[in-house]
Amino acid sequence: MTPDHVVHLACVVCGTTYRPDEVGYVCPDHGNEGILDVRYDYERIGARLSPDRLRASADPTMWRYRPLLPVAAGDEVPPLTVGGTPTYDAPRLASALGLGRVWVKDEGRQPTASLKDRASAMAVVKARSVGARVVTTASTGNAAAALSGLSASVGLRNVIFVPASAPEAKIAQLLAYGSVVVLVDGTYGDAFELCMEAAAHYGWYNRNTGYNPYMTEGKKTAMLEILEQLGWEPPDAVLVSVGDGSIIGGLHKGLKDALALGWIERTPRILGVQAAGSDYLVQAYENGEDVLTKPPIVADTVADSISADLPRDRIKAMAAVTETGGAYLRVTDDEILAAIPALARGSGVFAEPAGAAAHAGLVAAVDRGLVTAGERVVVLSTGSGLKDVAAAMRAVAAGGTEPIRIAPSLDALTNALDPGEEP
Ligand SMILES: *Cc1c(COP(=O)(O)O)cnc(C)c1O
Ligand SMILES: [Zn+2]
Repeated sequence: MTPDHVVHLACVVCGTTYRPDEVGYVCPDHGNEGILDVRYDYERIGARLSPDRLRASADPTMWRYRPLLPVAAGDEVPPLTVGGTPTYDAPRLASALGLGRVWVKDEGRQPTASLKDRASAMAVVKARSVGARVVTTASTGNAAAALSGLSASVGLRNVIFVPASAPEAKIAQLLAYGSVVVLVDGTYGDAFELCMEAAAHYGWYNRNTGYNPYMTEGKKTAMLEILEQLGWEPPDAVLVSVGDGSIIGGLHKGLKDALALGWIERTPRILGVQAAGSDYLVQAYENGEDVLTKPPIVADTVADSISADLPRDRIKAMAAVTETGGAYLRVTDDEILAAIPALARGSGVFAEPAGAAAHAGLVAAVDRGLVTAGERVVVLSTGSGLKDVAAAMRAVAAGGTEPIRIAPSLDALTNALDPGEEP
């Protein structure tokens, strides 16, 4: 059933519109590039949802925005608590950078410990609404863990394709949740192509990022929460790390929705942060290249979640930056690793490399004058540091932080602590 507030799906390449029941996942004329954007009847939605109604809502999850999501009245949502993550004020990070305010939104608090739960919860709703028996995705790890966990919560069978190099914690999640786990000897791009082929061959419900039009809609709830948590008083800039470009496109969609509904009057600049070894969109942005024709690069970065040879959602990702007056910027792996303890010590939020990359991006943006003194900014920390403990250990070792190893006695402790340097 098509929800009555969804008007149509529009191809991001040609603009042709389709009824949701008229197409599979993408524009028939543009194949995998023809990603569809869900278009809404905002008048109808505005009559059902408003900042006042939200204030009175007892639902802390992403489903508090349900009238603004592509979900029909009879659709059942999975039971895990997805969304409602905190946006922390981080005054020490702000003053260290000379900024007015810095907030850190902690998506590591999601059920499977990354922002991907927002999209995968949506995938499970849509898969069940079409009666799918099996759902599938390829992933660098987090989308996989998210689909795996959300599927487990409703007993939905799922097949997951990840590069064999994915961090162990992410693979452990998949196995514990009982997914059929396919470790592909190759890159995320290879896993993606194989998953697409398998989904078509077996008729599985396809959750792939930058293909399934509904994933953006789940991810946009992160931006709706930021706006609501800041009292519908938008920040000046939002920093987010970018791999496939689906999260950044989702953040932009949340802004466009809020603007169309009159809940905000202006939009923040969206700053997309990529790893220097996976900087397809930075290259395209700096050189004015057309992302429809720009060939893939060879991606290699410690931040596995943002390692993408060819960002699948690159059209929406580029629009998010250009239409908000933002920018794309790159940070090195060393800067990403250094940002893990910096973010943890400055805010209490422990992030995986791709999450900390947003903070590394903030430091770089201040350095380059892309964010200026006194501004109010949000750093989106997209995933938990426990996802990649090996990277965290590398990060603290590189920063010279070492534990104190001693025999269990107060004397040994006193000898080990530097004189006059009691913690
Ligand atoms: C997926 C992911 C990203 C990047 O999101 P894209 O939509 O691929 O750009 C960033 N951080 C984490 C932790 C992720 O899991
Ligand atoms: Zn098209």
